[in-house]
Amino acid sequence: MADHDNELNAWDRDHFFHPSTHMGMHARGESARRVIAGGEGCHITDTTGKRSLDAFAGLYCVNVGYGRTEIAEAIAEQARELAYYHAYVGHGTEASITLARMIIERAPAHMSRVYFGLSGSDANETNIKLIWYYNNILGRPEKKKIISRWRGYHGSGVMTGSLTGLSLFHAHFDLPRAPVLHTEAPYFFRREDRSMTEAQFSAHCAAKLEELILSEGPDTIAAFIGEPILGTGGIVPPPEGYWAAIQAVLKKYDILLVADEVVTGFGRLGTMFGSTHYGMEPDLITIAKGLTSAYAPLSGSIVSDRLWQVLVQGSDDFGPMGHGWTYSAHPICAAAGVANLRLIDDLGLVQNAGTIGAHFRRGLANALAGHAHVGEVRGDGLMAAVEFVEDRDDRRFFDPARKVGPAIAAALLDRGVIGRAMPQGDILGFAPPLCLTEAEADTVIAAAADAVKSVLG
Ligand code: PMP
Repeated sequence: MADHDNELNAWDRDHFFHPSTHMGMHARGESARRVIAGGEGCHITDTTGKRSLDAFAGLYCVNVGYGRTEIAEAIAEQARELAYYHAYVGHGTEASITLARMIIERAPAHMSRVYFGLSGSDANETNIKLIWYYNNILGRPEKKKIISRWRGYHGSGVMTGSLTGLSLFHAHFDLPRAPVLHTEAPYFFRREDRSMTEAQFSAHCAAKLEELILSEGPDTIAAFIGEPILGTGGIVPPPEGYWAAIQAVLKKYDILLVADEVVTGFGRLGTMFGSTHYGMEPDLITIAKGLTSAYAPLSGSIVSDRLWQVLVQGSDDFGPMGHGWTYSAHPICAAAGVANLRLIDDLGLVQNAGTIGAHFRRGLANALAGHAHVGEVRGDGLMAAVEFVEDRDDRRFFDPARKVGPAIAAALLDRGVIGRAMPQGDILGFAPPLCLTEAEADTVIAAAADAVKSVLG
């Protein structure tokens, strides 16, 4: 076993080009390397036998937890019966059609159809193309710019990497590309003017958005994209009144709203969708991760009735839509999605995310209350973050070179719990599987408090 481990490590070092990894350090064996072998419930096990409580659910995606045989069996059965057929020119499978119905039944009332992809990134690419197509049908060829927020995360493609508002994903790739614009992040803790209340800060964000729209020309702005709660940008819930203020501006200038629910879709906030949770009325909703709990790659763009009515007219004007992926609505992935959504219902996981989430966030805040370097503990549903600061009164941040966030995440891992050092700022993030128990939540809280103490005193 140890020999095989060494062999795997050598193959990994020499042949595997890892995503989001320091390539040189990895190839030289200087950075963390871990080969995951199994998973059960909220825990994963690596090839050395080390077990960890995964309080980030992979990449906030294994929502039903690991080792669900119901999904494994649905995948196997579909693979045996029909591993693949495409969805072009009106084709479908029982699994893909059933899943489309199940998604629309769960989506906000004004949504109409779902277009399937494989990843959150490609679903957002689809969204942007649909938005451009829509404005071409309506005879508005100039209305094409897309506004996103700094600290938003919408993917890693050329367009979606541009929409993402994090420098790590832009630098050295010549991103962002036109026609993407960024506006203020709804990040109350980091607001410049600290005398502002949450409601005032929301009004300020809406005013900045309107300023940008007016300076560019409202007739050139097609859509605004945002996660209901900022995820990779720091797990930041919207300040009070934010979405109402933003939507009022969008309505005024006839700008579409895309809710990127790749993280929040199917229960993470204790509600089926984050849009409903925060009173958003999107024209498009992006879904991925929680749709299959990552048992198979699958994403979707859910289209509103209003948008659909125009898109349908497009085919009559332009002919069949020239946009498709080979693996769109892949039957094996769709079968995983059907089994996953059934499991979420059967186990009451949406409700569990709400109740355990509240317990977890309360416990985390209590355990860290008063710590000199804890600036804020925040979150919603089963998403939480702790932001560390050098000086709480001054709200002065640590020098990023000190890598305080990664050091705390590493100390947490030593204590058997996986959290995530978020990519921008010293922020420790949590987004555990929705099946987290109270005892597991308490384990994470105790380990986090101890990890913080070990690094920051
Ligand atoms: N949107 C959001 C909100 C995300 O969090 C992510 C992934 N973390 C994506 C889009 C991109 O999804 P993928 O990595 O599957 O392309």
